[in-house]
Amino acid sequence: MSKIVILGGGESGWGAAVLAQKKGFEVFLSDSGNISTKYKNLLNQYNINWEDGGHSERMILDADEVIKSPGIPNEAPIVAKLRSLGVPIISEIEFAGRYTNAKMLCITGSNGKTTTTSLIYHILKTAGYNVGLAGNIGRSLAFQVAEEHFDYYVIELSSFQLDNMYDFKADVAVLLNITPDHLDRYGNEMQNYVDAKMRILQNQTEDDAFVYWQDDPIISRELKKYGVKSHLCPFSEIKKNGTIGYLEDGQFEIEYPVQINMEQESLALQGKHNLYNSLAAGISANLVGVKGNIICQCLHDFKGVEHRLEKVATVDDVLYINDSKATNVDACYYALESVKTPVVLILGGKDKGNDYNEIKDLVREKCRAIVFLGADNSKLHNFFDDMGITISDTHSMPDCVAECHRLAKPGDTVLLSPCCASFDLFNNMAERGRMFKDLVHQLEKR
Ligand code: ADP
Repeated sequence: MSKIVILGGGESGWGAAVLAQKKGFEVFLSDSGNISTKYKNLLNQYNINWEDGGHSERMILDADEVIKSPGIPNEAPIVAKLRSLGVPIISEIEFAGRYTNAKMLCITGSNGKTTTTSLIYHILKTAGYNVGLAGNIGRSLAFQVAEEHFDYYVIELSSFQLDNMYDFKADVAVLLNITPDHLDRYGNEMQNYVDAKMRILQNQTEDDAFVYWQDDPIISRELKKYGVKSHLCPFSEIKKNGTIGYLEDGQFEIEYPVQINMEQESLALQGKHNLYNSLAAGISANLVGVKGNIICQCLHDFKGVEHRLEKVATVDDVLYINDSKATNVDACYYALESVKTPVVLILGGKDKGNDYNEIKDLVREKCRAIVFLGADNSKLHNFFDDMGITISDTHSMPDCVAECHRLAKPGDTVLLSPCCASFDLFNNMAERGRMFKDLVHQLEKR
């Protein structure tokens, strides 16, 4: 019996273990940190051998194949050792893909993945498709393949998942954009990160489709290098050579395979970045045969995703928006761009090597004030202090929201779109967003 070792005991690792066990492999799961009680109980329920708090090399290095959770970097000592021994290392998605014939709709990009994935899932589910949601959001793909047997999967893929995918094929691959992110995990080499994103195309045949943003300079450049076999489905803000989705005279248009159009104003998600997400989602659903009227209805009634340009409340005639998920500069650019009023902008957190030049002009044009929120705000001070905009320095969410409330004028928008990860002051971006929302709701109740 061949042996599969799984590194990482979270959602993807646990699901991979269940599928491997079901397929008759000898299975061992190892996590160098603590496995949560929920996953420990599930692993025990399925009689899967596991350990946490360290890696027993004796149990790991004799694996025939290793499934690595996307959170574990390639430089981790155990991964390096496995590589030096020539043990194949794959991702949970790669493994799960071997055991299903379901149609795979896969979404990647630097920004917009979760929104677009959720929107496609919403459309397919409303249309009555037997569909699962997997990848970075939703439940483990491997677990769903083991126990649930969907005909379609909508899968959000990070670059880390794509890194360890080799034979997996997307029937519909969506690439939203490529801008710098996670460079710390790619040896600070942008091209390594770009190569990971472009893997979404690998193994596609002429029967498959590639949906992408035509105006992204990196995607266009990279596409010239690849002999792409799949059917190209580019979208853009305006109609151009080859685009099959665009805006024209205030109408949202998709040309292929079935013509669809609706008023731009009826789209549930506003802002230019969300137009791209809606185009990508509408095209993808159209490609797998969802009827035009259902696509339009769903693009209209979609409720959005928490922490992504989420309207929290209007207090004293000031709108508060939670965009805590904007953990890089590009995401904040699109958030700022979508707001039409003067802005009090909350920036800060754990910097990922950010270059703030990208938002400088928009900040100058739109911001009444900037409130810094981080353990160490010195880099932000160095960049923004000379711009002639009111700056306020805070190190906790209560102080930050109080400052925003003091600085905003009626008609303004307070925007939490911090350009940074949250780990300096919060457990994660969701905790940051929820604390912001709670404090805004407290202001509302005064
Ligand atoms: P991801 O899953 O790729 O991180 P999300 O859908 O969670 O993407 O959105 C993350 C942030 O990126 C949001 O805060 C939003 O402001 C911004 N964003 C969403 N879609 C796009 C897009 N197509 N282009 C650029 N920024 C986007």
